[in-house]
Amino acid sequence: RPRVLSGMQPSGDSLHLGNYLGALVNWVKNQDDYETLFFIPDMHAITVTQDPAELRARTRKTAAQYIAGGIDVDKSTLFVQSHVPEHAQLAWVLNCMTGFGEASRMTQFKDKSAKGGADTASVGLFTYPVLMAADILLYRPEGVPVGDDQRQHVELARDLAKRFNFRFGETFIVPEAFIQKEGARIYDLQNPTSKMSKSASGPNGLINILDEPKVTAKRIKSAVTDAGTVVAHDRENKPGVTNLLEILSTLTAKPVDTLVAEYEGKMYGHLKADVAEAVVARLDPIRTRTMELLDDPAELDRLLARGAEKARAIASVTLADVYAKVGFLPPL
Ligand code: ATP
Ligand code: MG
Repeated sequence: RPRVLSGMQPSGDSLHLGNYLGALVNWVKNQDDYETLFFIPDMHAITVTQDPAELRARTRKTAAQYIAGGIDVDKSTLFVQSHVPEHAQLAWVLNCMTGFGEASRMTQFKDKSAKGGADTASVGLFTYPVLMAADILLYRPEGVPVGDDQRQHVELARDLAKRFNFRFGETFIVPEAFIQKEGARIYDLQNPTSKMSKSASGPNGLINILDEPKVTAKRIKSAVTDAGTVVAHDRENKPGVTNLLEILSTLTAKPVDTLVAEYEGKMYGHLKADVAEAVVARLDPIRTRTMELLDDPAELDRLLARGAEKARAIASVTLADVYAKVGFLPPL
């Protein structure tokens, strides 16, 4: 079966609705058609400062949310990035094949470094896309299911795969970005022209998997809507209402046009109440299941150890091939 691989950073207190609808839901579906690998990129998380105890807790919490959201550890390989040292080892080789200018063109680095000032941005943040290329290429997947904000990084992984293959002979599969249409981008509730983001959104802009239903409902009811009273799908002039319609459409599998017709003559408040109800109905069981899983961290750690072992079985073969091809003397 063709293989796919993806991951989400343990950078926030919880995954949010964008992570869920834009990524996790699709991963769960991928399990039926592909050999699937999902990991928790803790090494990516430290490209910005992290509290050590918090990072450890968030790494477990992220794993628990993957499982609660539908990742089946018997179907998928679920692991923590830092448990598989081949990621860092391949990243070094790829760093040596990436142009400085090429890395400088990555828009996520420009965005993220602009916030703290270029002087405070780490070299790790700069080479983040190269580590991500290593994450992907190690497993020779056909596809990488990601939100559309990751398109440029997958493109770099493709370029590096082709470059390595050209220089050293066929080694890597050139992977495709699998970007789905629905739920592709969920926007910040308070700032509906920016994407919902673990690190960039304020608390009131986020719908978190792990928030209490009351908190979630309140945030949706306080979402910024737009001038006027007519519920319409209009990204330009009504980004707030449009975001809510798209969320509801994705959760109920009703086309946006059908929803717009249903809200004819109704107020924004009706729409918000229905969105809140649909979101809570979907997320609350996931929150409850996550909490149960976190009650037994030893069992969770055992599942992750088993995943890391399966992942290493693949990654070590690729790395040995790469090391031989670039001319490293094999150790006795
Ligand atoms: P950070 O702000 O730390 O970058 P993030 O919220 O962007 O966090 P990531 O861990 O970078 O989350 O992304 C995990 C996955 O979720 C990726 O596949 C990404 O494309 C997807 N994703 C992130 N935000 C959204 C969103 N607002 N809508 C849809 N998909 C999203
Ligand atoms: Mg991101």
